[in-house]
Amino acid sequence: MAKKYIIANWKMNPSSQEEATRLVKGVLAQALPKNIELIIAPPFIYLDLVKKNLKKEIKLAAQNIGWAERGAFTGEVSGLMLKNIGCDYVIIGHSERRHKIGETDEMINLKLKAAFKTGLNPILAVGEKECSDDIIQILNSQIKSDLNGIDVSEIGRLIIAYEPVWAIGTGVSDTPDHALSSALLIRKIIGNLYTPDFAVDLPVLYGGSVTAENAADFIGQTGINGALVGSASLNIEEFLKIIKSAG
Ligand code: PEP
Repeated sequence: MAKKYIIANWKMNPSSQEEATRLVKGVLAQALPKNIELIIAPPFIYLDLVKKNLKKEIKLAAQNIGWAERGAFTGEVSGLMLKNIGCDYVIIGHSERRHKIGETDEMINLKLKAAFKTGLNPILAVGEKECSDDIIQILNSQIKSDLNGIDVSEIGRLIIAYEPVWAIGTGVSDTPDHALSSALLIRKIIGNLYTPDFAVDLPVLYGGSVTAENAADFIGQTGINGALVGSASLNIEEFLKIIKSAG
């Protein structure tokens, strides 16, 4: 059975350690289907707590990374710090960081380089802002700028999440057909930049209002390797159903 990724992006939630512990323990309540790579991405402040409560087969991701290695960067967290606390993955270029915080493709490129250098697996989020946007132009531009100067020898650990901004946190998901065609477009862009073989093997996920009801429609597609789940990952019952439907 093909491997599928399920990533829980807790965003800036929950507001206490007790609630974070409850969420992790809730996830452990159900056996993990064998084909699932389950990744939890809590806020920085809960990384250690989540890591200590997780079973080995569930992986930890950060929601962001500083591009510098160390030093005078107040408020930043380096790749080495993330690695040393037990992260295997890091989300980079999430639309909430691009559009609410003003992260540019140049910053995302530096962050990707920092992640590759520290041995983290980056989950690069890309996607158009509006339904009516020119998706071919936007995905080409984001992917080319974000991966600028990154060699094929480093890129083996990359995951790309197609996340149309208009579908994130809105309750209006993309259609499985459109998400699939976007995933194919991403593979085409990557194939042109690197190699067709790499593009075929690249994990491409869908994210945007994934719920227990629609998860299987996205994850069940051969060309979609899993889902990045935001709000629904904070509801244990719903999130367990999503995991089950991916198994
Ligand atoms: C996300 O945080 O990347 C996301 C897709 O959020 P939601 O599932 O809430 O739309």
